[in-house]
Amino acid sequence: MTELAQVPVTALKGVGAALAEKLARVGLESLQDVLFHLPLRYQDRTRVVPIGALRPGQDAVIEGVVAGADIVMGKRRSLLVRLQDGSGTLSLRFYHFSQAQKDGLKRGTHVRCYGEARPGASGLEIYHPEYRALGADEVAPVEQTLTPIYPTTEGLTQQRLRSLSQLALARLGPHSLPDWLPAELARDYRLGPLDQAIRYLHRPPPDADLEELAEGRHWAQHRLAFEELLTHQLSLQRLREQVRAQQAPRLPLARRLPQLFLQNLGFAPTGAQQRVGAEIAYDLSQDEPMLRLVQGDVGAGKTVVAALAALQALEAGYQVALMAPTEILAEQHFLNFSRWLAPLGIEVAWLAGKLKGKARAAALEQIAAGAPMVVGTHALFQDEVRFQKLALVVIDEQHRFGVQQRLALRQKGIDGRLCPHQLIMTATPIPRTLAMSAYADLDTSILDELPPGRTPVNTLVIADSRRLEVVERVRSACREGRQAYWVCTLIEESEELTCQAAETSFEELSSALGELRVGLIHGRMKPAEKAAVMDEFKRGELQLLVATTVIEVGVDVPNASLMIIENPERLGLAQLHQLRGRVGRGSAASHCVLLYHAPLSQLGRARLGIMRETCDGFVIAEKDLELRGPGEMLGTRQTGLLQFKVADLMRDADLLPAVRDAAQSLLQHWPQHVSPLLERWLRHGQQYGQV
Ligand code: ADP
Ligand code: MG
Repeated sequence: MTELAQVPVTALKGVGAALAEKLARVGLESLQDVLFHLPLRYQDRTRVVPIGALRPGQDAVIEGVVAGADIVMGKRRSLLVRLQDGSGTLSLRFYHFSQAQKDGLKRGTHVRCYGEARPGASGLEIYHPEYRALGADEVAPVEQTLTPIYPTTEGLTQQRLRSLSQLALARLGPHSLPDWLPAELARDYRLGPLDQAIRYLHRPPPDADLEELAEGRHWAQHRLAFEELLTHQLSLQRLREQVRAQQAPRLPLARRLPQLFLQNLGFAPTGAQQRVGAEIAYDLSQDEPMLRLVQGDVGAGKTVVAALAALQALEAGYQVALMAPTEILAEQHFLNFSRWLAPLGIEVAWLAGKLKGKARAAALEQIAAGAPMVVGTHALFQDEVRFQKLALVVIDEQHRFGVQQRLALRQKGIDGRLCPHQLIMTATPIPRTLAMSAYADLDTSILDELPPGRTPVNTLVIADSRRLEVVERVRSACREGRQAYWVCTLIEESEELTCQAAETSFEELSSALGELRVGLIHGRMKPAEKAAVMDEFKRGELQLLVATTVIEVGVDVPNASLMIIENPERLGLAQLHQLRGRVGRGSAASHCVLLYHAPLSQLGRARLGIMRETCDGFVIAEKDLELRGPGEMLGTRQTGLLQFKVADLMRDADLLPAVRDAAQSLLQHWPQHVSPLLERWLRHGQQYGQV
């Protein structure tokens, strides 16, 4: 039987070139890829729920008769369809609808629909449900298995992904999908058969324990998480060896420039900044490339540490490149470094994607001629960018950069021979016990001290049944001249849905807060549109900014002192912490409201409680790990720190010691299994699910 890794998706019935191209966008090229494209969650469409029994927040199949369909005029027109089933009434609300749709939902029509029941203006409502009209006597069947929800992209429906996985499952067997974990290891670590695990996770039976699956406790999930973590470990070890085997320029300790810099700085470095600075300085003086990660909470002062490292290279006569994940953030660095380095007589060059034509050509020339300090975005990775003598690369917010990109840096080194040192800075604190696995390829330093004089953000945990009160709170804060963020959280399967949710909240808030100037920003907007909205908010022309988590990095608006986060239970604590770091930057007392969606599990409650108790990122990370156990949460997945398909570093922390041992034995006894594993799990690993 042919191995499914060798069979292209086009071998499946109904998959032509156009669809194959879309599939390639989510990394699906072979049937093996399809089988390892695992559901993020499941829906229960195996039964119809009576309207009267629906709880707010419940996703359910319901069936009823249309009692009326009216167009209602709010700030935005919507179609409101009242549905009855004898046990109760519920409304379907559509902001986007056609006349044909309205005609199809006439009084008396039988409708089957699926969606989340939310408390709305007319009682329980479902926004934009999936629905279909039934014939008068039609008895529609329910699903036979739980319904998988896959990660997807624009133009690729869940329906399509379901039918593809169905076709691929039909060809799945122990021979078509080789198990690269040797039987000895599987036995030692009690790992079940691969093909059964895959089959179960794509189509769990109706009696499957939804909670267990959501918490990642099912054996099938353990089996795959183990293999994924193992593969990740192998790839990091390999990466580290590859980089360490190279030569880097030795940079002697600097004196003159750091002294001048510190004199002009206006504050003294914290103890932590000095300690980490010394660790970096030592690494740079070696001829092995530095691979060092600095973890420091938001506001810990990582930029100063980066500047000190840069000065060591600059004083030795080499070039430094500093990269940030977004244009806004890169620009902030450009301004800081220009201000700091000007008195030292060092000019700062700028390169970003936006730079076009002559300006771009000039920048490229400047860099090739040896411009000492270069700041920019991903654009610095492009092939055309040639450095003259690059000795140090500083990467801010590493979680937005992939391993591939980090490897590509080597080619930017001197004569393609000397590899630049790498300094990576992240504001995502991670418990020490996990750092060893997460960053197996890096040495780590921790900035565990904030500069003096910060006031913590006051955090409140409130159920969304009290949404109206919270809206009033926004109104009064803005009336007092302050600004606020309203953050809509990620809906896992696609960015598109997340943006739609933000649009819906924007509509609702705009009409509820008619007198305020409300803006919207999300990932689907063009960079120029985003920048324009951000600028308006910065200038105070917008009072309330409805946003997806795109505002997470690089936003600095000191007058914004209130943040509402919708459905905070969907996010990892690390990401909540990062978001919250956007407020509390000015002199006004700041508040953060975590507007959770009831019912919250005990664990969910405990997690949000941590956010209320502390603003220290490391404490949050440690407590998050302590609490993990049966976690319905996604832990590190959404921090963007590491993009796993099944595994979660926090949730699966118990597996890590075994994973490290298994990696050793695999390398020793079954080295030929390493490449197929990397191919299976990591070929598309870097682009997977990136924010
Ligand atoms: P982050 O670690 O989040 O990148 P930044 O480097 O942006 O933090 O620093 C946050 C703010 O703290 C900046 O305004 C910076 O000038 C200031 N800062 C950094 N180090 C110190 C220090 N030792 N004492 C006082 N202020 C500091
Ligand atoms: Mg920073």
